[in-house]
Amino acid sequence: MTAEAAKPVKQPKSLPAPNSDFYEVYETLAPEELATVKRVRAFMEAKVAPVITKYWVDDAFPFDLLPAVRELGIGGAGMQGYGCAGGSSKLLGFILMEMGRVDPSFCTFFGVHDGLAMGSIYIDGSEEQKQKWLPPMARLEKIGCFGLTEPLVGSGASRGLTTTAKREGDTWTLNGEKRWIGNAPWCDVSVIWARDLADDQVKGFIIENKTTPGFSVEKIQNKIALKVVQNGHITLKDVRVPEANRLQGGNSFRDTARVLKMTRYAVAWMATGCAMGAYEAALKYSQERLQFGRPIGSFQLVQDLLARMIANITASQCLIVRQAQLHAEGKLTDAHAALAKAFATAKCRETVAWAREVLGGNGIVADYKVARFFTDAEALYSYEGTFQMQNLIIGKAVTGLSAFV
Ligand SMILES: Cc1cc2nc3c(=O)[nH]c(=O)nc-3n(C[C@H](O)[C@H](O)[C@H](O)COP(=O)(O)OP(=O)(O)OC[C@H]3O[C@@H](n4cnc5c(N)ncnc54)[C@H](O)[C@@H]3O)c2cc1C
Repeated sequence: MTAEAAKPVKQPKSLPAPNSDFYEVYETLAPEELATVKRVRAFMEAKVAPVITKYWVDDAFPFDLLPAVRELGIGGAGMQGYGCAGGSSKLLGFILMEMGRVDPSFCTFFGVHDGLAMGSIYIDGSEEQKQKWLPPMARLEKIGCFGLTEPLVGSGASRGLTTTAKREGDTWTLNGEKRWIGNAPWCDVSVIWARDLADDQVKGFIIENKTTPGFSVEKIQNKIALKVVQNGHITLKDVRVPEANRLQGGNSFRDTARVLKMTRYAVAWMATGCAMGAYEAALKYSQERLQFGRPIGSFQLVQDLLARMIANITASQCLIVRQAQLHAEGKLTDAHAALAKAFATAKCRETVAWAREVLGGNGIVADYKVARFFTDAEALYSYEGTFQMQNLIIGKAVTGLSAFV
């Protein structure tokens, strides 16, 4: 080694703050929507970030934060009328990305309530049902969940739910079980999908959790991801539901799928936010952590990881912003949403793993944030349709051939 090479490398005094908006996608928002997104960021950073790791470790939901979420006035973002916050579907996407950037569990709680539960009523409910249920849900006075998955039926939900619905006069009787249902252990309203014994078609029902006999929920214990979200195992035993609570526009799985298209759209944003949070934490760590007398962020191999991470994030951001344009133009297909969900969650999974690597041993300690993103990404990758199921939707669109006969 020459004397020249042994000299300590001079580092700049101030380093850039971590920024995961490399291509300035936030500039594509209209000023008033950007202001809302900034309010969500401020709320997530000031209220959620300081406390969420403790809740995550304890498997607990931060109920104390609900009043402040209500004040944000974002319930029903992207939905018009019925007391909803309105705005574009791009606004909804950015809100979810902001939430995911700080905590994917918190974002999932909101996504299940807003996208899955409210979305089902907004998309498949009658005018009367929307008038009745959406305003209190938009104000987050009533929180919702969405029960499609069952203990024995996950990916194959379109082909055979075992939960049944039988009509007698103006009353339906539901029997069966639902598994993995986010918010179910504590929420007020459940949208439950069941197979009508008369015509074998999937139908949606609105159930009031706390006052409906035969409806019970057990919290799923010992999860290693999205630990803040309370997932429930629901049992329905001769649950009686009036015809007035059957979603009037939900008459087959096609109608359920209209809701799922929008929630897959949403998960792509959440996953991109999750990757952003992990990247920013890893970048900051790389600027501060010294090895061999230098910040690890100055090492070429660490910079390579960081460059790959921001490239994944930027690619996902550009994809989902275009996805929002397609939705605004009325052109978003199931395959478009499936591709965004599959791509963004896969890139998120890759990115959070690299972030964990940058933190070395501290990458598996919850206090350093990245471990939370690292495990949460696993759930984002599998829920709302697994990577394989999304690719089968894309595969059908590009080949014209269905993998299912
Ligand atoms: C944290 C979390 C929250 C959730 N929240 C909700 C919720 O609020 N509401 C709700 O209804 N559900 C919810 N789910 C359920 C989720 O949507 C399902 O887990 C998901 O659809 C996959 O179903 P499964 O777990 O039964 O896996 P399975 O369907 O059993 O799949 C297992 C594996 O087999 C693969 N596979 C299955 N079929 C095929 C095929 N034809 N070709 C190739 N591979 C295939 C899958 O890709 C996967 O890798 C949640 C799940 C999690 C983990």
